[in-house]
Amino acid sequence: MARIKWKNGARCAVCLTFDVDGESVWISRDPHLGHRPIHNSMGAYGPKVGIPRILKMLKKYNLPGTFFIPSWTVEKWPKMTESIVRAGHEIGHHGHLHEKPFQMADAEREEELLVRSLDILKRDTGQKITGSRTPSCDPSAHTMALLKKYGLHYHSNMMDDDWPYYHPCGLVELPTKWSMDDFIFFGYSGNPPAGHGIWDAESVHSIWLEEFEGTYEEGGYLNIMTHPQIIGQHHRIRMLERLVRHMLDKGDVWFASTGEVAREWSKQVKPPKKTAKNRAK
Ligand SMILES: [Zn+2]
Repeated sequence: MARIKWKNGARCAVCLTFDVDGESVWISRDPHLGHRPIHNSMGAYGPKVGIPRILKMLKKYNLPGTFFIPSWTVEKWPKMTESIVRAGHEIGHHGHLHEKPFQMADAEREEELLVRSLDILKRDTGQKITGSRTPSCDPSAHTMALLKKYGLHYHSNMMDDDWPYYHPCGLVELPTKWSMDDFIFFGYSGNPPAGHGIWDAESVHSIWLEEFEGTYEEGGYLNIMTHPQIIGQHHRIRMLERLVRHMLDKGDVWFASTGEVAREWSKQVKPPKKTAKNRAK
């Protein structure tokens, strides 16, 4: 992969991203969980406690964030949504009630939900939505073409590269990976059981630090995928802040929203020419 000239002569780019699921992540996992007070309370921790703490940290270091929010959560927590928008951060699409496209009946159902979600996001945030992260990292065969059809510029979920790339439909992909997802290490429910136990934040810090150092060495971009109901707890947000301070100390790291990285990357890397076979699709 050719080196990218990141903004301000930076050596690498870092995206701090937050999937603001709220209660929707539990309801979509199992609708019965939507009736369990403890699961609703775990979900509500994100909008109630996690978001203010995250916004405070971003403001302290003057950093941009990207917040992928299900439109159901946008409607459920209007003041929280407003606080993110007011702070100037990017809002991205993340389903309506955190539905997984791969499990949907067909492309029509997926399209209907996408249109509904985008309408709500535009109405309640006033932003032009340019990016999407599929709920639960589970897109369908139709997802990318549908996002492109409705004018989105990028998607951020695939796991086959460390570098951005183009989907055949022309949509930019900003890949992620499970090892950079806080939910994997810390997401937990006792009853019914979910998750892999609660990890020591120091272990996660060491994984993320080495991913950052490798990215810095190669001049790439790092996509840190977190959830306010998870990262918002003291021992985790303090770990993230320590990592951010280490990155800032380098002096040549570009902190950017995923939308900015997608725009900068696609300015410098043109989509591959379509083959006759692709054009026919
Ligand atoms: Zn999510």
